[in-house]
Amino acid sequence: MYDNNNIFAKIISGEIPCKEVYQDEKILAFEDVAPAAPTHVLVVPKGEYISFDDFMQNANAEQIAGFFAKTRQIASDLGLVADGYRIVMNHGKNGNQTVPHFHVHILGGKQLGGL
Ligand code: AMP
Repeated sequence: MYDNNNIFAKIISGEIPCKEVYQDEKILAFEDVAPAAPTHVLVVPKGEYISFDDFMQNANAEQIAGFFAKTRQIASDLGLVADGYRIVMNHGKNGNQTVPHFHVHILGGKQLGGL
């Protein structure tokens, strides 16, 4: 069950502030509060999806394609394409997902090393 009280739901609703990078009717992107790289942006769909797995199972093909195309556009707009960047999506306990609203991490701005 989706938890309406999770922190990203509150950021989407405007109850909790964020450093916004991009927003439209379907997507919000904002800076991670504890950046793991010089650029660390989180991209979230505004729909109620718990995780990558939930999103891929329950969003439709248009929503999925739109979300990932926009995520790529945000990485480009952040100036990360030429030098490269990392995309991370954590799902569930073993993936160490800490916020139960699906999100993509965009990490860049330095050589990130191996996983
Ligand atoms: P994950 O471990 O994949 O669930 O990632 C959750 C991310 O959310 C972590 O990188 C946190 O630093 C980040 N985070 C938690 N609370 C906030 C917040 N209020 N604003 C921005 N980022 C946050």
